[in-house]
Amino acid sequence: MFKGWVIDKIDGRQTVALQNIDEARLPEGEARVRIDWSTINYKDALALTGKGPVVRQFPMVPGVDLAGHVESSSDPAFMPGDAVFVNGWGLGETHWGGLAERASLKAAWLLKPPAALSLKDIMALGTAGYTAMLAILALENHGLKPGTDTILVTGASGGVGGFSIAFLAALGYKIIASTGRMQEADYLKALGASDVIDRAELSSPGKPLGKERWAGAIDSVGGHTLANVCASTRYDGAVAACGLAQGMDFPATVAPFILRGVTLYGIDSVYKPNDIRRTAWERIAQLLDRTQLERITHERPLADALTVAEELFAGKVRGRVLIKIDA
Ligand code: NDP
Repeated sequence: MFKGWVIDKIDGRQTVALQNIDEARLPEGEARVRIDWSTINYKDALALTGKGPVVRQFPMVPGVDLAGHVESSSDPAFMPGDAVFVNGWGLGETHWGGLAERASLKAAWLLKPPAALSLKDIMALGTAGYTAMLAILALENHGLKPGTDTILVTGASGGVGGFSIAFLAALGYKIIASTGRMQEADYLKALGASDVIDRAELSSPGKPLGKERWAGAIDSVGGHTLANVCASTRYDGAVAACGLAQGMDFPATVAPFILRGVTLYGIDSVYKPNDIRRTAWERIAQLLDRTQLERITHERPLADALTVAEELFAGKVRGRVLIKIDA
């Protein structure tokens, strides 16, 4: 038996509980992993609270991220005792995920941590840190340059936002942070933002084109915010869209794209091929500042997962929550 959160649907109603689960119920997979760390991402909070249609099959163990040690593997690439981690690949959506003491996984999903990062570091960063780096790679490939270019980061007090600011600052960009929590301005400046703006400036319907304010942006918010972000991106600039905390809609016009040559990049972390994942994690390992990692992350036990999910939607979670699994 092992402990894990289970989301189920009974008579059309979603249930969620921390349960003792028989190992025989684990899904098929080449590798059996003892989980040491997991996290609560926005998507996990949607799944746990039932606020969004994240879970595709019931019963489901939530948790899009996990890190731990291999107990057994039929794939020779992994030996018992190997430290491994997984981000995405449908964990917590179509395959049992990380908010549990055990997982059974496809070997193709497992990565070994870069030398400079522990499993705990990797889960503190989690999908949020890795997605922030995917967005930065897209902006770099577009040609944005530190020193000269200003980048806007929306959803700044969240996980993707916090790591985006910390990495961009380490690279030398000037950063504008947009937040609904102006009381967190000191925290955002300590991460590396030079300016902090109220997200209300961007969250209502705006004009097709605004003043050119930034060369690039990392947006985890969507909705009117993303439309306004594009409208105020400078000529030939780029926006990396990765989230929908305000909404799934995109009520924009084509004006920024056809009159200013702005490029909108879509960022997906879930099904990214492993070579790009490795590149992203190596860059993170090079750039990571441990003081910033500690500033962004808070640790909670597995039993608190549902409470953390509720706190996240109440705007009470700053940065990232790392979940310690005591297997
Ligand atoms: P968090 O909850 O940690 O951060 C989201 C932040 O968005 C909040 O902290 C808040 O920041 C802001 N926000 C919340 N509600 C609203 C609102 N109604 N209007 C405007 N801003 C709002 O989530 P994550 O950082 O983990 O994820 C952010 C988004 O990115 C989510 O939508 C998530 O699903 C998505 N995501 C996508 C990935 C991908 O592969 N594409 C991977 C990872 C995440 P503040 O208080 O500072 O305003």
